[in-house]
Amino acid sequence: MAKLVIIGAGPAGMSAAIEARRHGAEVQVYDNRPEPGGNIYAALGSCRAHRQDVWSALGSSYEDGGPLLDAFLSCGAVFRPRTSLWHLDNDGILALKGPEGTRTDTADAIILATGAQERPMPVPGCTLPRVMGVGAAQILLKTSGVVPNGPIFIVGSGPLPLLYAWQVARMGGRIAGFVVPNGANLRLSAFVDIQGILAGWGYLTKGLAYQVDLLRRRSLIYRNARDIEIIGEIHAEYLRFTTGKQHKIKVGTVLLHDGVIPSIHPAAAAGLPIPYTPAQDAWRAESAGNIHVAGDLAGIIGAKGAALSGQIAAQTALGQTNSNASAKLNKERAFRRLMDAAYPPAQLAAIAPNTTEICRCEMVNAGAIRQAATELGPDPNRIKSTLRIGMGPCQGRMCAKSLQSIVARETGTSPDDIGLHRLRSPITTITLGELAGLKE
Ligand SMILES: Cc1cc2nc3c(=O)[nH]c(=O)nc-3n(C[C@H](O)[C@H](O)[C@H](O)COP(=O)(O)OP(=O)(O)OC[C@H]3O[C@@H](n4cnc5c(N)ncnc54)[C@H](O)[C@@H]3O)c2cc1C
Repeated sequence: MAKLVIIGAGPAGMSAAIEARRHGAEVQVYDNRPEPGGNIYAALGSCRAHRQDVWSALGSSYEDGGPLLDAFLSCGAVFRPRTSLWHLDNDGILALKGPEGTRTDTADAIILATGAQERPMPVPGCTLPRVMGVGAAQILLKTSGVVPNGPIFIVGSGPLPLLYAWQVARMGGRIAGFVVPNGANLRLSAFVDIQGILAGWGYLTKGLAYQVDLLRRRSLIYRNARDIEIIGEIHAEYLRFTTGKQHKIKVGTVLLHDGVIPSIHPAAAAGLPIPYTPAQDAWRAESAGNIHVAGDLAGIIGAKGAALSGQIAAQTALGQTNSNASAKLNKERAFRRLMDAAYPPAQLAAIAPNTTEICRCEMVNAGAIRQAATELGPDPNRIKSTLRIGMGPCQGRMCAKSLQSIVARETGTSPDDIGLHRLRSPITTITLGELAGLKE
């Protein structure tokens, strides 16, 4: 019987496991979170069972994950929660740490479905307490039913902030206002893509309903905002920006959002190809050998597309074919193309003031990166070894994308030509004790 190991139990990983079990494979699924579901369906099982108020506030896009979760839990795959992949070599040996200790595993084929993360949005003051990502705040809502302190202001745009604002309203809260950075306004010109509109009609009508709800609740909307900064002594207290005139607004919480990007670190450390996709302004991973990539890791596609791509990855890994799933995936791709054109990233990293912290782990600011790029050129590895940017515990998850944007602008190089810095294991933090306890 073929053995398949899957990393990540989001829609892609769960769907890959179901499909692989359907073909009789032995399947192990590892995820660093306590429950399966990934980002969109985070904590779905416990929320459905124990927190009815949150469950009904999250709406149908969350409830839709129920059948997939149930099919995953009953498919016969072995699920190992709270278990992180910290090393994967290109021979396919996986090193993991979790409740069962630190161990290695091997498989006939591996599916990486490590999903997405929010694109970091470095603005002055973004490291202050009471500032976080919209996605992070939404995970807090899904896992704990928590809505942060108001007044809540969202800096950014896109489908996720709209959905979150709607969900917060259903929890009895309110988003006081949106500050849309200059360049990140919804591009109505994208809606000439008839194929994309038809493919995503259901999503678009939902999005419109969220937008109408926002207007009904009289959330403030500031468009074309420039010089955005968050000010506070101990935590965020004010949001300052210009829109032709100066604004200084008292805030309780600031939520940042500049879209989501593939979570490429495990794939990059394993030496998989990591091409840059200009339309999504992000790196993505490609399959190589017996390591297959699925879901948002292969390029942001959304939950339905991720599930389809997980199914296809399992079929490919096991030598099966299914053109039906591929045709459905193409439809999801058409809608994603429309969304990518409609919500361009704000690109605030490229214009971040010199004092803005870009690498939180090693405390490297934008000015130091600009100086290094001028002196050393655009190679991110030279900049990394000089400034230690990307060498801290997050291994560049919070800074690699911003480094690319700053260096591209500073040196007049295309982002396409600036690769990701070299990544080395361990790709997540691991203690010496955990390492010493490694079981083969
Ligand atoms: C914070 C956030 C919130 C989102 N919320 C929504 C939403 O409400 N609605 C919506 O339509 N879309 C949402 N999205 C987008 C949506 O999550 C994706 O399009 C879709 O879920 C992708 O599915 P996936 O299976 O590829 O990956 P994901 O759902 O991202 O799942 C990947 C899983 O892999 C795990 N993982 C990653 N690295 C490792 C490792 N080294 N070891 C072990 N496990 C690992 C992660 O913890 C995660 O559980 C959100 C995205 C983010 C980043």
